[in-house]
Amino acid sequence: MRVYNFSAGPSTLPLNVLEQARDEFLDFAGTGMSVTEISHRDKAFAAVVAEAESLVRELLKVPDDYAVLFVQGGASTQFAAIPLNMMHNKKADYIVTGNFAKKAWQEGKIYGEAVKIGDSSDKTYTYIPDVDTLPYSDDADYVHITSNNTIFGTRYVKFPKCKAPLVADMSSEIFSREVNVADFGVIYAGAQKNLAPAGVTIVIAKRSLIQDPLPICPTMLKWKIQDENGSLYNTPPCFSIYMADLVLRDLKAKGGVKAMNETDEYKAGLLYDFIDNSKLFKNNVVKEFRSIMNVPFVTPSAELDAKFIAEAKSAGLVSLKGHRLVGGMRASIYNAMPVEGVKALIEFMKKFELENK
Ligand SMILES: *Cc1c(COP(=O)(O)O)cnc(C)c1O
Repeated sequence: MRVYNFSAGPSTLPLNVLEQARDEFLDFAGTGMSVTEISHRDKAFAAVVAEAESLVRELLKVPDDYAVLFVQGGASTQFAAIPLNMMHNKKADYIVTGNFAKKAWQEGKIYGEAVKIGDSSDKTYTYIPDVDTLPYSDDADYVHITSNNTIFGTRYVKFPKCKAPLVADMSSEIFSREVNVADFGVIYAGAQKNLAPAGVTIVIAKRSLIQDPLPICPTMLKWKIQDENGSLYNTPPCFSIYMADLVLRDLKAKGGVKAMNETDEYKAGLLYDFIDNSKLFKNNVVKEFRSIMNVPFVTPSAELDAKFIAEAKSAGLVSLKGHRLVGGMRASIYNAMPVEGVKALIEFMKKFELENK
């Protein structure tokens, strides 16, 4: 039986996409081979990379002077790639709004002065600092943000308007809301939240910003090299890119990012409305900054939380345990989580509340 999977990542993928991948697994595009077996230089595979890139460009309206790259190493490797490609003045600003934002900042400190200009740890990352009043450095090479905080369930409502290029980790929300790419210098995202299996990371970077990587930058992390080689400098994560392509096709067929955003807002609204009216469950995030992708919630006790997670699992609602830093529960309701999955979760929560008054 297929369950409703609320995992924060790797996470659920659209069923129709999984079925298609299954159906063509042994014979990809008439090659008589699996997509996991053909050369990455094969025309059939080159077509996949080209289509995935063009779909990213189309769906996010990426301007022509931006590179769209498929790279490896997860978002965490990009925490290093960002300073290695961009930190010419050896200074960058970081807004620390969660665990991944903190890791990005710590990685930045290896390469130069990484200035923490904002920090919401005082209230366990339940809000986003006011981006209009932060002390941006005059000579920063970039300003780094994490647009959606996967563990704590917050998101930026508006983005910093700063002099330095804005670099955004959008791992857990890319393709769930429309953004104006031109407002950013770099957008990057690990695929395993909202796009594909783990293994591929998307980097969307303004080309003028990536021409001069630091001399110590490893070749594999030079975005310029990846761009010049169409993301095929070395063997890419072929299967993950292929899956990303299928998910992007599916996203386009479902009406694109705007339509997806409407569904995502609707799903999140249903869940938050229920939680806000519940006497048992609570979400501690400042309302304005609530994520529409990751919804953390708690009952009044750790014992009841554990009971909820176990009983939900028996009911076919899995991976609801919160991150170890936060405890409680977390429902990740990415693009591929159907509305019915969210409704099933709410029905289960209602029943649990009645039984555990
Ligand atoms: C999951 C996640 C990461 C880490 O991604 P890896 O691919 O495991 O390196 C970084 N940032 C955010 C916002 C995430 O959600």
